[in-house]
Amino acid sequence: MDEYFIIKSLHEAAKWGNLDKIKTLLSNNLSLKQRIDNPDDNGWTALMFAAKNNHGDVIEFLLENGAEPLLINQAGETAEDIAGQYKNLEICIAIRTCNKSKAKNDSINFFSHEPLQRCAERRNDKEWLECTMKTSDAKFILYNNLQPLVKENNDKTISIYRLLYSDVEDFIACGALVILLGSEKLIEENETGNNIWFGVNISHIGCGDLTTRFSGCKWLSKALPKQLMLVATDATIIGQGRSIFCWHRYNRFCSICGSSTRFKEAGYKLICSNEHCESHNGVHNVSYPRVDPVVIMLVISSDHNYCLLGRKIGFPDRMWSCLAGFMEPGETIDDAVKREVYEESGVIIDSVRYLSSQPWPFPSSLMIGCIAVAATRPDNTNLKIDRKELEDARWFTKEQANMALFPRHYKFVSDRIILPPSQAIAHKIIKNWLRIKPNL
Ligand SMILES: [Zn+2]
Repeated sequence: MDEYFIIKSLHEAAKWGNLDKIKTLLSNNLSLKQRIDNPDDNGWTALMFAAKNNHGDVIEFLLENGAEPLLINQAGETAEDIAGQYKNLEICIAIRTCNKSKAKNDSINFFSHEPLQRCAERRNDKEWLECTMKTSDAKFILYNNLQPLVKENNDKTISIYRLLYSDVEDFIACGALVILLGSEKLIEENETGNNIWFGVNISHIGCGDLTTRFSGCKWLSKALPKQLMLVATDATIIGQGRSIFCWHRYNRFCSICGSSTRFKEAGYKLICSNEHCESHNGVHNVSYPRVDPVVIMLVISSDHNYCLLGRKIGFPDRMWSCLAGFMEPGETIDDAVKREVYEESGVIIDSVRYLSSQPWPFPSSLMIGCIAVAATRPDNTNLKIDRKELEDARWFTKEQANMALFPRHYKFVSDRIILPPSQAIAHKIIKNWLRIKPNL
């Protein structure tokens, strides 16, 4: 059947509540699931037709099969808006529930998928570490100048080039630094068959060309687009190792007395070689890996209909994102959000809500994602933009944000803005704002 007629049939079946027809269409056209949201000339999707005509079973089926409830038609209405206009309250509840569940899934950010069990209790257990490294459970990632060894998959995604002890034994014998990254699950006593991950830094010993030794391997470029091609679970493991090795690199000398440092606790502590150094007494933040907290916030208007976005100097054309900035000592998260927003845009914030956080291993930031409600009206003429930080800042409507989040769906809109990709927490915060009315 012609593509136009397949979509038209889907829309007709959704309109009339013919669930059997929809199921038949999907089973006869396997790729239709990817186009389940294809709109008609007015931007109406199958979900919208079912919402208007109060077909709860069709709504449930479409949502289960990936229909996106955030999409809007050319009048700017979502399926939930349409259900509301026709007083189809059960449909509204079903869509809202779906949005909540999608928002919950979205709170797992890139670089934080299925993080490893850190096994901190094993870090001082030299015997266990040496033994485990030599078993087939041990998996190693090589790092050279903070670049991990990876391979490209057929679908263009990038994975860790998983190595065994026999692959890295000679590097370790030459003095490569080994850190314990963790276990894929909790380690029971004498348990086997559980991957235990180690990072191996060979930056200071050199390695020559590894491509003949490890077929298809390459060093992952530091450029961000490449990093975002990583398989999500691998990105988390790679990011953890990268931050630790970067911390080693920048702390080769004690920041209190200037003597050289060496690492302990499987890579998680640096100690000063000068036994009289003050750092040996008490807890000092020169001894433990640093994490740099960054607040990143979507500022929204008090009616929740507008958001404030900024353009950093050097952003690609039409690209906008959430405001963000490093926290300062002595600040709460709320204080940092309020200060950064005021400094960069002149907007005063009334209330702040934390959403989720994202480790960002370049080198070791922790992005703290928040939604912040402005105390003043969304007025572009009142913004006081810090031109040293931002090229521009501006208020945008929900519709503009929506069209930027689903660019393939709104191909007909030519002046769309561009938002950061789905791996960035800014993307998730903006989507969360559209999915759930913030309780602020
Ligand atoms: Zn010292």
